Amino acid sequence: MAKILCVLYDDPADGYPTSYPRDDLPHIERYPDGQTLPTPKAIDFQPGQLLGSVSGELGLRKFLESGGHQFVVTSDKDGPDSVFERELVDADIVISQPFWPAYMTAERFAKARNLKMVVTAGIGSDHTDLQAAAERGVTVAEVTYCNSISVAEHVVMMILGLARNYLPSWEDVKAGGWDIAECAARSYDIEGMHVGTVAAGRIGSAVLRRLKPFDVHLHYTDRHRLPPEVEQELGVTFHESAADMVPHCDVVTINAPLHPETENLFDEAMIARMKRGAYLVNTARGKIANRDAVAAALRSGHLAGYAGDVWFPQPAPRDHPWRTMPHHGMTPHISGTSLSAQARYAAGTREILECFFEGRPIRDEYLIVQGGKLAGTGAHSYSEGDATGGSEEAARYEMPNPIPAQ
Ligand code: NDP
Repeated sequence: MAKILCVLYDDPADGYPTSYPRDDLPHIERYPDGQTLPTPKAIDFQPGQLLGSVSGELGLRKFLESGGHQFVVTSDKDGPDSVFERELVDADIVISQPFWPAYMTAERFAKARNLKMVVTAGIGSDHTDLQAAAERGVTVAEVTYCNSISVAEHVVMMILGLARNYLPSWEDVKAGGWDIAECAARSYDIEGMHVGTVAAGRIGSAVLRRLKPFDVHLHYTDRHRLPPEVEQELGVTFHESAADMVPHCDVVTINAPLHPETENLFDEAMIARMKRGAYLVNTARGKIANRDAVAAALRSGHLAGYAGDVWFPQPAPRDHPWRTMPHHGMTPHISGTSLSAQARYAAGTREILECFFEGRPIRDEYLIVQGGKLAGTGAHSYSEGDATGGSEEAARYEMPNPIPAQ
């Protein structure tokens, strides 16, 4: 029987919800490329419930305990005295979400002698040292596509929010004001703008599709080019590299995974290549954009706005400069954890666990590392190496109410 150690974010400050604003979720047949949604044998949760927090337990407790497994859930994940660090020693499987990641560094792999699998309940396994996983023969899997559309919707919202100066205008009203001139002095239409995505994978291409009706000029860069008929249909211009693309763009959105090739890609030099007054939206990973270079470009006015939901580390320390820099539209890491997305990645996590326990192959599209090397989706979209460096800084965030392990 296995020990499954699961790290989830805390319940809401007001307690686990007893009701929700909507009664159900829309039914979705398939993902846009035809991939099937998760297909576990059963689920023990009501889609639309909060599953990603500690009391939601990804809807897995009944399934795991009825199989005789030990299931430990905690939000206390950082630092040497954390519940996670203590429970890791004899865990067989670790599960966490990118929103509240259990950083699986080489040091932690060395401590986890029984570890066989690390599951990302979501997309993006950069919080796991993939090199260390490969060297130790640990499988890494994630729930590919589960929240790609959730993020694409968020990106479109954030581009419009920045360009239209939405958040400062909303704050004006909340504060009892009516300063139209102040609100309008930073407000633009996106019609006619040039918008480029770094990566046109599931999220990047969904962003392109959603923006096309806004009559903008679309651009992209990626390691692999889109099929010519897709480029033509979207009217999108390909650039060999991000450095080639950004000088043409009024808006840049980052939709690539974090791996050694993309870490710190938007450094001072890359941002200097962007047009004055450009907007940068990053919902991919915080480490892709240089923390201090972004803050400096907003302060100097070189960038007109920066938005996103991804930080490094997570949770972001209270003195992280992105909390207080001007003209930002940052949120905590939420775009991929809408209730809609949670239902999909909870089901996908269960599918992965069922396969693991029954000795069935995990779908190729869910695999990142297997058999000592990058595999499946991981072999296509990631490069070998480690992007977890500096994650110990997450321990600096003080949790208001850490919930004890169950
Ligand atoms: P996909 O794997 O579908 O797309 C990733 C794309 O990035 C692929 O097309 C890949 O290229 C491309 N890519 C990889 N490296 C580079 C590079 N160096 N330069 C340019 N392009 C590159 O994943 P998704 O679109 O579903 O997700 C992308 C990322 O978004 C995730 O890895 C994750 O980090 C982040 N994400 C964030 C969420 C949130 O809540 N904020 C939720 C979900 C994801 P190719 O495969 O052609 O080599």
